[in-house]
Amino acid sequence: MNADKQTRIKIAIQKSGRLTDHSLELLQQVGLKYSRGRDQLIGYGENMPVDFLLVRDDDIPSLVKDDVCDLGIVGLNELEERRIEYKNDGIDNAFQQIMPLDYGQCRLAFAYPENGSMKTIADAEGKCIATSYPYIVTEYLKTAGINADVIEFSGAVEIAPSLGRANMICDLVSSGATLAANKLFEGETILQSTSVLIQTTVALSPEKQQWVDKIVQRINGVQQVRESKYIMMHAPRSALKAITDLLPGAESPTVLPLGGIDDKVAVHVVCREAVFWDTLENLKAVGASSILVLPVEKMLA
Ligand code: ATP
Ligand code: ZN
Repeated sequence: MNADKQTRIKIAIQKSGRLTDHSLELLQQVGLKYSRGRDQLIGYGENMPVDFLLVRDDDIPSLVKDDVCDLGIVGLNELEERRIEYKNDGIDNAFQQIMPLDYGQCRLAFAYPENGSMKTIADAEGKCIATSYPYIVTEYLKTAGINADVIEFSGAVEIAPSLGRANMICDLVSSGATLAANKLFEGETILQSTSVLIQTTVALSPEKQQWVDKIVQRINGVQQVRESKYIMMHAPRSALKAITDLLPGAESPTVLPLGGIDDKVAVHVVCREAVFWDTLENLKAVGASSILVLPVEKMLA
């Protein structure tokens, strides 16, 4: 085994697609500085023992399952599809799912032709469904007790009904615009997806595992910070309870005396959810003044 495998963490991320920019940004936000190899397919960490491999998202689950990479970032849709495939082959724990990430949100949903007679999945009995996720769809149909043909399309699933290749589809949706453009309407959602961080089931060396733990802790910090705000205000002491009740996800506030004033205090609080104008107006209504809302740059819980 080469020395790098013992000491350096290898992360598989999508080479070019919807998850790429977010994943590279996340690696930077957890502190990774890297240089890209000449072929641009590997990023070498310069300040952490962490390198990344840029690959097609379809390949990420198997790279982690086969322990070629220690970690991977991939959509739950892709991961679930491979998980069922491996399970059918008798492999139960192909990867560890470490944490969901806050980007790549979409849903896997059935869709039916707008001008057809099919309205729900019960109408799929004896029909043909096109999808890029045959394992997930087949498992869903089995549980629902529906007999339908599932045909695999690797791309442009939404044109299958108009080509006469299928009666309906099951595909990823985020806005629904692609479905509408192909005269399809959205039906049942069978999977809510987001990107997730996965890890090999093979035990890492203690040093590598310590780095993984550190990265996970930093990702938690980065994700909390995205919504968090630091709020400062002046308020009558008597309004403290009303103020904390108004702030979503706030931890116990820091209360500071104001020079020369007895009945008013300065209140500082970290709020872990978005703060809207409504909240500020409500704070003012219970007596707060000089309210400042500041972005939080880093957070370590
Ligand atoms: P690759 O070339 O890597 O195989 P791809 O075409 O399979 O790329 P993308 O379209 O870049 O994949 O999507 C990557 C992931 O982004 C999806 O697997 C899914 O988890 C997520 N995603 C978020 N929103 C959508 C959406 N509206 N349509 C498709 N995927 C989406
Ligand atoms: Zn893909």
